[in-house]
Amino acid sequence: MRSIPPRRRALLAVAGLCLSAVLGAAHAAGPLKAVASFSILGDIVREVGGDDVSLTTLVGPDGDAHEYEPTPGDAKKLSAARVLFVNGLEFETWLPRLAKASGFAGQTVVASQGVTPRKFAGHGAGSEHDEHGHDHDHDHDHDHGDPKDGHHHHGDADPHAWQNLANGVIYARNVAEGLAAADPARADAYRLRAKAYIARLETLDASVRKTFAAIPAERRKVVTSHDAFGYFGDAYGVTFIPAMGVSTDAEPSAGEVAGIIEQVRRERVPAVFVENISSPRLVQQIARETGAKTGGTLYSDALSKPGQPGATYLEMFEWNVRQLAAALQP
Ligand SMILES: [Zn+2]
Repeated sequence: MRSIPPRRRALLAVAGLCLSAVLGAAHAAGPLKAVASFSILGDIVREVGGDDVSLTTLVGPDGDAHEYEPTPGDAKKLSAARVLFVNGLEFETWLPRLAKASGFAGQTVVASQGVTPRKFAGHGAGSEHDEHGHDHDHDHDHDHGDPKDGHHHHGDADPHAWQNLANGVIYARNVAEGLAAADPARADAYRLRAKAYIARLETLDASVRKTFAAIPAERRKVVTSHDAFGYFGDAYGVTFIPAMGVSTDAEPSAGEVAGIIEQVRRERVPAVFVENISSPRLVQQIARETGAKTGGTLYSDALSKPGQPGATYLEMFEWNVRQLAAALQP
């Protein structure tokens, strides 16, 4: 074995110190830079990421992620990020182009990965709404992506999967695993926070089931603006009749509106609801013409601003359930 002269040994020791200092700095290099596409998902990332993540959310409170125009600032934020969280299910149709333009080179995590996608019922505004739980064939045939019927922003699957808390659990798990993969040194912290958060989601889920089970089935029907509550309806046994189509830019015709009004009267739908992301005009007209009561605002695709009732995913869900239950109670 060759002996190392003392001077050289000292140098090596210093180099070793420097190396460990650099590694240490990388470790404590501050939070992981992440971007979330919209506010509800951003809140889940915040819960799971905590202080270990520095998060930018692209479509903020009360924003409509169906119809979003990315800004040059968004591209800049994305180019600096190591992870991008998206809903998937073709919700953020504007995002692939933004990601490409920004030169984003990090990992993309699809939060809805693993949920059972709900197919859009395929009926445009005003056509018959399926009774919950029945899966009979329609004699009309709107299911096949006619680009003029308001489906052009979506694929066949309904993107609003977060409206079932059981899917929220899947989102939280995917977020934790996505963060752990991008930042293995802090994987345990991400998984631990996700576990605690998932317990809260599951507790709320059980309480929501109880709330709606206590309301007579024939009263569990409401009109909303756009078709955002299909997963909610399937999970908790409420029939949602969307006044507009599946996207927020589909204006129903006068005939379609008349059809909804007829349906609300015939089925004695107790209440109509406006949403935080879409115009209240249409549902207000339906309320006026049918005598259905107008419930509060539901948070469909975006959180509220801080200080308002739906500032987090859990708060938004609790709020929606409270508004719906109050209006549907006999
Ligand atoms: Zn939507």
